[in-house]
Amino acid sequence: MTDARTAYRLEINGIVQGVGFRPFIYQLANHHGLMGEVANTATGVSLVLEGLETDIRQFIDDLPNKKPPLAHIVEVSETPEAVKGFAAFSIVKSRGSATRATLISPDVMVCEDCLAEMRDPVDRRFGYPFINCTNCGPRYTIIDDIPYDRPKTSMRRFRMCPMCQAEYDDPDNRRFHAQPNACAVCGPQVTLCDAGGKAVDTDDPIAEAANRLRQGRIVAIKGLGGFHLAVDATHADAVSRLRRRKHREEKPLALMCSSLDRIREIARVQTAEERLLVSIQRPIVLLEKRDHTAIADSVSPRNRYFGIMLPYTPLHHLLLDVGFVALVMTSANLSEEPIAIDNAEAFGRLGGIADDFLVHDRDILLRSDDSIVRHSAGHMRPIRRSRGYVPVPVFLKDDMPPVLACGAELKNTVCLTRGRQAFVSQHIGDMENRATDDFFRLTVDHLKRILDIDPQVVACDLHPDYMSTRYARELRGIACIAVQHHHAHIAACMAENKVDGPVIGLSFDGTGLGTDGTVWGGEVLVADYHTFTRAAHLAPVPMPGSTAAIKEPWRMAVAHLNAAFGEEAGSLRLPFLRSLGRQPVETMMAMMEKQINSPLTSSLGRLFDAVAAITGLRGQVAFEGQAAMELEMILDAAESGSYDFFWEGDGPCRIATVPIIQAVVRDVERGVSPHTISARFHNTLILLFDQLCRHLRSTTGIDRVALSGGVFQNHRLLVGLAAALKASGFDLLTHRLVPTNDGGLSLGQAVVAAATVTES
Ligand code: ZN
Ligand code: ZN
Ligand code: FE
Repeated sequence: MTDARTAYRLEINGIVQGVGFRPFIYQLANHHGLMGEVANTATGVSLVLEGLETDIRQFIDDLPNKKPPLAHIVEVSETPEAVKGFAAFSIVKSRGSATRATLISPDVMVCEDCLAEMRDPVDRRFGYPFINCTNCGPRYTIIDDIPYDRPKTSMRRFRMCPMCQAEYDDPDNRRFHAQPNACAVCGPQVTLCDAGGKAVDTDDPIAEAANRLRQGRIVAIKGLGGFHLAVDATHADAVSRLRRRKHREEKPLALMCSSLDRIREIARVQTAEERLLVSIQRPIVLLEKRDHTAIADSVSPRNRYFGIMLPYTPLHHLLLDVGFVALVMTSANLSEEPIAIDNAEAFGRLGGIADDFLVHDRDILLRSDDSIVRHSAGHMRPIRRSRGYVPVPVFLKDDMPPVLACGAELKNTVCLTRGRQAFVSQHIGDMENRATDDFFRLTVDHLKRILDIDPQVVACDLHPDYMSTRYARELRGIACIAVQHHHAHIAACMAENKVDGPVIGLSFDGTGLGTDGTVWGGEVLVADYHTFTRAAHLAPVPMPGSTAAIKEPWRMAVAHLNAAFGEEAGSLRLPFLRSLGRQPVETMMAMMEKQINSPLTSSLGRLFDAVAAITGLRGQVAFEGQAAMELEMILDAAESGSYDFFWEGDGPCRIATVPIIQAVVRDVERGVSPHTISARFHNTLILLFDQLCRHLRSTTGIDRVALSGGVFQNHRLLVGLAAALKASGFDLLTHRLVPTNDGGLSLGQAVVAAATVTES
């Protein structure tokens, strides 16, 4: 039966070196009775398989499911080969510069083997909070240069004891070449300190920290990528105190629970969400709350979701083993400053917030926040992509010149490219203060060093005043390319889906500078990487007070009412207008009429704000997008009604907001509930944009639609529009690898800049 044998070459890209991948391939090939060979290459591993077609298929099916825990397979490409008649399967010598392009692993959760040892009273690492091995532990946050070796990490100051060294040197040991290998004798130690930084006298700092948490105290805990501020999530006073001291009045706080069972007590967990919770990245997963839980209401007010994660360091496990329902574990910073990582820095900056500090002496070299994901419209959607995912690259369709993309302003990330890999940084944050600017620069330098990338092109936003733009413009001897914000959003979505375009791109967010100098945000573009045309947009309205209108949605409500009703806007019988009083409304009307500090905007995010304010939901927000989020949260899913809509003109089409606003006002005046109005508003947008895409298909012949921008964090809109567009026969592109918000923007800037420089 030898003629039944076939042969294939597989090229596997991803994190597949230094993680026990070749031995795994060897064992898997033997298991399926396959012959051939495997070798490391510059971009991954290459293998030849010979055997029966069915065995080869099973081998390929097994790859993602049985791979070593730290291996990250990004792409498997398969080409038929001539059968050579291999007599066995073997591991052969690396080809080319195998180590240069080796990818660095992200930080991942402590593995089951290490946990079992940590809980085994006779093990030499019993109760040791820094236990790790080749399959688990810190990586990205402890490295400051390549090659990845202990002297290039923050473990350099800990000299391994003879027992640890013996493990490190033994190829058969789970800790062979595990750079952070350590034990209680030779490795990092944990200390509990008071608010003044003085060590507390205790035999068991972790148990004592747990005691204090149970008393309702706020404990700053040094973790993997930075400090958390922790409180007992069932202790309402403690949660309120934390909010007050942190100046974080309304944003939801993340929770950590000891087990899936604990999580199920407070939230609904679908199978796909369970997979995300237990994945080695251990992200914060958005989960629908249960009613009447023990969790304090102030943890996630006016929100139907909790953000929950499982423990990911040994220290977390030891702390939660004590038996909390859940701990609040929120990034330790004052609002919008970067998360604290350094002990001295933490005592200084968190002194007024935390009552106690659980610290250790393994330095964090690069901060990395917890990642946030949700399951929506059939896929995992990153909302904040950081710890556990970075620095895994996004694999691109084509080779690119080395580009540095600097992102925009809010939720910022940067991106560096190398060949077909795009490395999007961890979450840097909102670039509105000096501390975040410093962190931005540190991250750029750090990534350039550990990825060995010397960019030839720098990309930035069109907005000249963003810190990231100024940084890009000040770089010398390197071409700087400004990329329009909404084009970058769509390009990011195309890039992660490996599509060239053209596409119809729905680019919906709060703010981005347009090519005409107005503020865009409700844009329908026909785009490829090189260029775009604005095919449609929301009819612009003024933003009275400019950025003040972002913090105060009632201003957008007045602007939209003015557009829809003119002079009569002020005398409409709307409760929110009555509670405002005449004066502020008249001031806004006058500002708009005289065109004082009232830039025009076509933003869909701002339309959400206006509708939220008109329905009486809220006139002020504590964070960007809050009103829109709350409008979605109250939506009555059973309501199927919608409002009339139309657009005018062609090239570009202007989408009228007037009939939508008029219909919302009519409903409010009739006493229709905000739940119903919210649903009708969402339904209207779904119908409108589906119909508009069909119109554009008929005029352009393009049948592919890309969805991007922060507005698509709205679950209802994403699910509804995806279903409608698919039913209309469109090929749909959405974000699954980088955030749809501005956290994914740097990727789009990078691919547009690369296309711009390579076209000439
Ligand atoms: Zn381990
Ligand atoms: Zn040791
Ligand atoms: Fe944006």
